[in-house]
Amino acid sequence: MSAPDLSIAEPMPTPVPPPDSTPDAAEPAPRSLTLIRNEADLAALPASERIRYRLVGADCRFHANDNISDYIRPGETEELKAEVAQHMQAVLRALVIDTDSDHNTQETAKRVAKMFVDEVFRGRYQPMPAVTEFPNVSRLNELMIVGPISVRSACSHHMCPILGRIWIGVLPNEHSNLIGLSKYSRIVDWIMTRPQIQEEAVTMLANVLQERVKPDGLAIVMEADHFCMQWRGVKDLDSAMTNSVMRGAFLKDPHLRREFLSLLSKKTA
Ligand SMILES: [Zn+2]
Repeated sequence: MSAPDLSIAEPMPTPVPPPDSTPDAAEPAPRSLTLIRNEADLAALPASERIRYRLVGADCRFHANDNISDYIRPGETEELKAEVAQHMQAVLRALVIDTDSDHNTQETAKRVAKMFVDEVFRGRYQPMPAVTEFPNVSRLNELMIVGPISVRSACSHHMCPILGRIWIGVLPNEHSNLIGLSKYSRIVDWIMTRPQIQEEAVTMLANVLQERVKPDGLAIVMEADHFCMQWRGVKDLDSAMTNSVMRGAFLKDPHLRREFLSLLSKKTA
């Protein structure tokens, strides 16, 4: 802001500088106060801010591929959807799309918000599916392969789809828990319906399965098409990414590893 021109001879009122031109007024707003809130203050915030507040308070990470369902109260996912729709509408506006007269895009913001929260990213907002574990009473200790299980995910760099398949190899021991075949699919789905990086997704899946099943060995192979390579970027339609995680006996025993991989190639053929 320019200083008032004092060369004018006429008497004039003492100029009052705007508050932002004095050094004293440049003090930042006391940010720490925003951290002290009671329940009534919290309730007045948008749902995303309330959830974020709880996460930060609990020192809980909330990256794109983290599940945050423990911090969401009943009814808040509905509020989240309304918030996302509102911001999606602003994105459409910023893209200069006339959502008023273009009937195809009138409900798009709402549809995308629902798709994100209830469908393609639901693994962030919903708790882990109930999985019943059974003791290994028949002491099964043979290699067991589950798959291929369909994977529908999205990359966290571009939010483009990742579509692929997963195979899981389990070598149980007498202390392992057994879970039903369909439960493997449900756990895969829960982990994958989040914005992801494939390597991290496979590691996360391995951690969850290791904890539930407690096998002697665990092997996971994931093969997927990344639409950020096909729809945009290098537009390479044939590029697929394959990666694997081997744990326990699969790491130590090359024969077991070979047996698993050879059974996979038979299944893929
Ligand atoms: Zn990407």
